[in-house]
Amino acid sequence: MHDLKTLDKTYIANTYARFPVEIVAGHGSTLTDAEGKVYIDMGSGIAVNSFGIGDPVWKQAVTAQLDRVQHTSNLYYTEPCVQLAQMLCERTGMKKVFFGNSGAEANECGIKVARKWAAAHKGPEYSTILTLWNSFHGRTLTTLAATGQDHYHELFQPLTPGFAHVQPNDLNDAKAQMASHKCAAILIECIQGEGGVKVMDADFVKGVAQAAKENDILLIVDEVQTGNGRTGQLYSYMNYGIEPDIVTTAKGLGGGLPLGCALLGEKVADVLTPGDHGSTFGGNPVCCAGAVSILSRIDDALLAEVREKSAYIFSALTGAPGVESVSGMGLMIGIKPANKSAADVVKTCMENGVLCLTAKDRVRLLPALNIPTELLHKAVAVIKAACAE
Ligand SMILES: *Cc1c(COP(=O)(O)O)cnc(C)c1O
Repeated sequence: MHDLKTLDKTYIANTYARFPVEIVAGHGSTLTDAEGKVYIDMGSGIAVNSFGIGDPVWKQAVTAQLDRVQHTSNLYYTEPCVQLAQMLCERTGMKKVFFGNSGAEANECGIKVARKWAAAHKGPEYSTILTLWNSFHGRTLTTLAATGQDHYHELFQPLTPGFAHVQPNDLNDAKAQMASHKCAAILIECIQGEGGVKVMDADFVKGVAQAAKENDILLIVDEVQTGNGRTGQLYSYMNYGIEPDIVTTAKGLGGGLPLGCALLGEKVADVLTPGDHGSTFGGNPVCCAGAVSILSRIDDALLAEVREKSAYIFSALTGAPGVESVSGMGLMIGIKPANKSAADVVKTCMENGVLCLTAKDRVRLLPALNIPTELLHKAVAVIKAACAE
């Protein structure tokens, strides 16, 4: 481990503050480090391993495709990406899918589609994309511009122009900004993930959707973290009863392999034409075959299980000693410790065999959707004790 740490520091760009743990293996919702210590995984690779480590159904789908062909480019037809696109459209009512490899790329596609739509439909000056303060939409220069947190912007000027930010949960501000900019779209997370697991009010989300419609502005929902069953519905917008024009997703979609996509609704289904956009790896058949196996199991029974587990976490931790508040939806949970920093709680949990994440001042939980109840109960007990001590 010492050696690996030194080599990592020597050869890998210094962008991550890693925990001092080397993961060598895992199974379901447990991870094993180089010393043989076993942890309960409450982060699932930041909401990526939807069904945990080495899920047999996903592994079978991935390896079967790997035995056929691992990559073809988008110059040829392959079945898994078509199958996945059809499933995504049938389950959301969206009309078409563009596949990329990450959340940032999914948002880039959404932004490009919105700009092209608005230019043709309203005029090229209608290019502004509104997003929320405290949002997170990715690390590329354009998705950084979309991200409403100034500290991410400072070192990388100039960013892509044409973004303005709205106060979250302030419908009057949203309406005012829609009126004062020539807008193509408004892009929102229904639950701000990196921003601290902040759930947007139903009145705000519904109001934004309504105002966008009235102002002929597209509604884009970033479901990169909240998507694919995470919040107890297939996509978090479904908790709010709204109909976005574009939905972007990634993280949990591929079940552990890199895959992202933009789902395009009726208004924008035919905006993109050959040459407008593309991705060498996008829609990779191995990633898509895995995603088909993931999506087909995010059914009503699993979603009900996610909601039940969520209710258990809320009831166990809300009002517990040392817990100031619990936020989130489904298995996307933020815990604000009363007397300690989130980082301190995460450190104590790690020492006691539970791996958690942070988001701003909160301990963030994003366990596998199928985490066994027994492991969930054990992990919650450790987190509860870490907050209380
Ligand atoms: C993680 C995340 C992204 C960026 O995804 P990458 O795959 O890291 O590019 C974008 N939006 C939200 C809401 C995210 O949580």
